[in-house]
Amino acid sequence: MSTEKTALRPCPVCGKRQAEILTTMRYAVPEGFPLPAESDIVSCLDCGMAYADTSGTQADYDRYYTNFAAYETPDGTGSGVKEDDARRLEESVNWLAARIGAKDARIIDIGCAQGGLLKALARRGFSSLSGIDPSACCVEQIKTLGFSAWQGHFDNLPSESEKYDFIISTQVLEHVLDTHGAFCALRKLLAPGGKIYVEVPNAARYHNGKDTLPFQEINQEHINHFDITHMEILCASHGFTVTDVYKNQYNVLGVLLTCGGGTSSSCCQKDKTRLKQILSTYILESQQRMYEFSEKIRGKSVALWGAGARTQWLLAAPVWNETKIEAIVDRDPRKQGKRLAGCVIQSPEAGLRHLPDDTLIVITPLLYAEEIKNDLAGLKTGYPSFVWIDEVRIGKP
Ligand SMILES: [Zn+2]
Repeated sequence: MSTEKTALRPCPVCGKRQAEILTTMRYAVPEGFPLPAESDIVSCLDCGMAYADTSGTQADYDRYYTNFAAYETPDGTGSGVKEDDARRLEESVNWLAARIGAKDARIIDIGCAQGGLLKALARRGFSSLSGIDPSACCVEQIKTLGFSAWQGHFDNLPSESEKYDFIISTQVLEHVLDTHGAFCALRKLLAPGGKIYVEVPNAARYHNGKDTLPFQEINQEHINHFDITHMEILCASHGFTVTDVYKNQYNVLGVLLTCGGGTSSSCCQKDKTRLKQILSTYILESQQRMYEFSEKIRGKSVALWGAGARTQWLLAAPVWNETKIEAIVDRDPRKQGKRLAGCVIQSPEAGLRHLPDDTLIVITPLLYAEEIKNDLAGLKTGYPSFVWIDEVRIGKP
């Protein structure tokens, strides 16, 4: 079987459609879920960019982010509420503050979520701060903090918005279907002489030795997998030059952009093909860890805590033909009552009662694993539980 195809979605970097399939991701999706249950992860034959060849439309993704995503939770990623998140924010804000310049520079954060970054900039004395987010709830929250805010995203920026000296977009571009549209939108918002900071997960660091999290970075939300080479090619094609690069231990890749410079990047063929090799290794090792997880639950009775993206991916594994799912529970009331893999998603209180004595509870979300462990301890169910990733982390002896 040939692994080459004409992609459904053009390459987010070069726009071509000839691609090589690296793997096919499958998900068990709840009823009413707007995103496809299957998509190929491909490598562009022309430029080597790795991306999800999704059949989902922008409208599907908009519906997903409005109704299913978890960014609205007050202590979610980017809010700066949790200790780890706060430290990550502080580090990147230190780096940014040294590069923004004047304290009255007009700054906007696109995809500002709960405003963690804006708050951190305000604490450093920056006075002209605005945010844009697709979530109405986040926008209201930002306004109560005293910042200007609009509801919108790259393909729907408010016309009343003015020009900005410093545009920030962190952890957004990896989610964007139309990357070229996003850069056109950025250009429109940028004041003459202004700078743009774009930050994405660094695909070159997906495989991270013993701390690698299997398929953590390849999911229904992350549809573009950038390394520095492909970020530079994309930026150059829109007339932007990368003038500075930010990397940290959380495996982010941040680039500072200014207008001007060539329309093509100077990277060589070897740079372009490296990303495919990295992704292929990551996928192979992730599949191996998935196999190990499958062996732990094969033939058992299992209850799953968490009905989000991780669970949807775990549930697509063949092992469930030999494993009995006793319950799926989640604290998110928007998920409760929906059907997933033949189970009605319930609250933990309702779903974790009267299960067979030998039921194993598998905790699937990583971001909230500690809270869930405490939550579960409080419920005193008596069933043994484990966080699936703790058991199968790549390289763990
Ligand atoms: Zn390409």
